[in-house]
Amino acid sequence: MCRVCQRRPEVPGEPHGRCDACARAGRRAYLFRLRPTSIGLQIVAGELSPRALHQALVGELEQFHGEPSTRPHLLGTSCDLVVAGKRLETIRVSPGLASRKDQVVAALRAGALRTDAAW
Ligand SMILES: [Zn+2]
Repeated sequence: MCRVCQRRPEVPGEPHGRCDACARAGRRAYLFRLRPTSIGLQIVAGELSPRALHQALVGELEQFHGEPSTRPHLLGTSCDLVVAGKRLETIRVSPGLASRKDQVVAALRAGALRTDAAW
């Protein structure tokens, strides 16, 4: 199943696990894993490094005012960012984070302020 839209089968061998329509539209999904801290959530792993997240999406995350959606294909304490070209389309969270969407957005914004090479 396409990692971006979860609606169409992925093209065999497509490097980002996408269907034909999402690949042609330049849409990507970047997965991040989070862990609870004493004050909220923190990214512990991700398909983008802190530096890459910063370069690609720090501004988009600051300007994101939408509501993250809850998606059952995301497991545990994970979320993903759906990006079309340079634009952040959606933030999706696992059912385990459904009650902590504000903390997910805060963790992503904090992560995007870092410029390290690894989480
Ligand atoms: Zn798709």
